[in-house]
Amino acid sequence: MRIDHIRQRLRAHGALPCHEHRVLRLWSQALAQDSGRRKPQDFLPLGVRGALPALEADLHGLARLISDHPAEDGSVRLLVGLHDGQTVESVLLPRDGLCVSTQVGCAVGCVFCMTGRDGLLRQLGSAEIVAQVALSRSRRSVTKVVFMGMGEPAHNLDNVMDAIELLGREGGIGHKNLVFSTVGDRRVFERLPQGPVKPALALSLHSTNAALRARLLPRAPVIDPEELVELGERYAQATGYPVQVQWTLLAGINDGDDELDGIVRLLAGKRAILNMIPYNDVDGLDFKRPSAELARGIAASLHRRGVLTKLRQSAGQDIDGGCGQLRARQVPSPQGPQPVVWRTAAPALHARAGPGGPDAAGPGSD
Ligand code: SF4
Repeated sequence: MRIDHIRQRLRAHGALPCHEHRVLRLWSQALAQDSGRRKPQDFLPLGVRGALPALEADLHGLARLISDHPAEDGSVRLLVGLHDGQTVESVLLPRDGLCVSTQVGCAVGCVFCMTGRDGLLRQLGSAEIVAQVALSRSRRSVTKVVFMGMGEPAHNLDNVMDAIELLGREGGIGHKNLVFSTVGDRRVFERLPQGPVKPALALSLHSTNAALRARLLPRAPVIDPEELVELGERYAQATGYPVQVQWTLLAGINDGDDELDGIVRLLAGKRAILNMIPYNDVDGLDFKRPSAELARGIAASLHRRGVLTKLRQSAGQDIDGGCGQLRARQVPSPQGPQPVVWRTAAPALHARAGPGGPDAAGPGSD
């Protein structure tokens, strides 16, 4: 369901913009429709009041909790059921953050991510994206929403932008606390600056080497890493929010000196924060997490060389913390266990020397 359908339904029952605003505000903030100073009978037209119970039931059915999985780091991974029986994951993050999904499955097919394994199954409607926030807010406060769960937001741009607009208005979330994450798509850089609510931007870079990046993110739009960072920098300058650059650190693949030099070349002096996330080992995927010592060394070295680097952990590592792992456990891939093709397809990557090379010890999400 799209937010527009909710608006049309309300209008059909006589709602004016102020009435739509109230219903959407209470829903997206997980408040009861009869809460607040003004009671429905003092504010809403009779037709809207009559339609509210059925609408509330439908909104409630957009995102239902199937199971929750608390982790030691304070995050809680939620398996969320949609109206048609599909499932997605949302993650309650420490400090009132929430990571939401934007698609069931994903077409980008990042080789280190469970979500990308089976391709795109369907888009989430804008209301289904907001419903994940409402569901989470029914459990606890949410003041920051990152669009880094299952799916590539750029491939569902209209729905994601509609959800961002509602969350930044009726949802009461600060605009820079809405974080649009993308592997990079030129449409994003045209669209984001035009919206009434301008979110912060996160770019999934993962490599500064265009050829390697194309192998790690096989169906991402072809944009040279340098151009991608430049487009992000322009948006950061325009909004005043630093661009967040995401880097899943894969042992022996993107943790070598060549990549560190590339990161310094692209990011030093830019309005950017590099979030370095050591890969979370996933059964069936042939990637390794670098040692904690190596990851710390890389982050410290980049910091010294002028790149604001934060070493982060994928939320909920102890509870299938990689993007799509919970869903994958509930819904096995129709193709069965996936053959591990990475090592045979890309032997040269593992032969790279240097401190981050094969001797180094290592959510696949955006
Ligand atoms: S990491 Fe993100 S963009 Fe890549 S396949 Fe997974 S969900 Fe899609």
